[in-house]
Amino acid sequence: MLGGSSEASALARLLARRADIAAILSFAGRTKDLIVPPIPFRVGGFGGAEGLAAYLRHEAMDVLVDATHPFAETISANAAKAAASAGVPLLVLTRPPWMREASDRWIDVATMEAAVAALGSAPRRVFLTIGRSQLEAFAAAPQHFYLIRSVDPVDPALCLPYRRLVLARGPFDADAEEALMRAEKIDCVVSKNSGGAASYGKLEAARRLGLPVIMVGRPQAPHGAALYAPEDVVARIEAHGQVLGKPLALRGV
Ligand code: NAP
Repeated sequence: MLGGSSEASALARLLARRADIAAILSFAGRTKDLIVPPIPFRVGGFGGAEGLAAYLRHEAMDVLVDATHPFAETISANAAKAAASAGVPLLVLTRPPWMREASDRWIDVATMEAAVAALGSAPRRVFLTIGRSQLEAFAAAPQHFYLIRSVDPVDPALCLPYRRLVLARGPFDADAEEALMRAEKIDCVVSKNSGGAASYGKLEAARRLGLPVIMVGRPQAPHGAALYAPEDVVARIEAHGQVLGKPLALRGV
């Protein structure tokens, strides 16, 4: 199972209770304080799609589950290629995108660069809730104040003169998000359309405060039929095991 998402953690919890499915969870290794899962795990890249395909073959995996974050574009593309090349079925566990409500003031954009442009030229107080990997794009608009929230520390060389970093890991509830936005006098939120409950609070808080949300759309459609419940993944693994004639002791990465 390729992880790094709350869905992967939920699936790992289900699989931990199954002595008949031997699974290993793979992390990229980006987060310093990894939350140790209740099943065996490994950390680090495979060396592209070819490396992942070689790993699947070498470990004689029966199923590959892509349970990465919806914005983890490269690894999902690699998973699709590797599964096809190794002849291993691919299951995609993800979450539906957030949908706007009537009173939401979302500005939909396709890229982080477009999100920067959508902030405009006049200085604003911006809540950046996009993680760490695409912060450089905002160096093009240094006139704004940025409240940056991230699980891990941010590169100190980041060229944003007006910024404050909050280190925190979700879930974040709407009341706390509203209090934070009020305290920091935020007038705009930038978010990726990650979906899921853990970080929905900021959208509810922005709605209550009447704030605009610049919403970056997902980079790609899932590679394969998307499953939204970990239980459905387990059912598909079981069904595949029956096709193979080995309902027990399946291995998956
Ligand atoms: P990415 O750009 O799609 O992948 C970059 C490279 O990182 C991949 O080519 C692969 O290296 C390695 N990699 C990524 N996920 C891996 C995994 N689960 N196991 C082993 N190697 C992995 O990925 P990203 O957007 O930087 O995300 C990295 C991790 O953070 C993912 O696990 C993702 O689920 C999680 N995450 C991402 C976001 C986000 O917004 N992008 C948010 C929350 C969590 P090789 O080519 O060497 O195999």
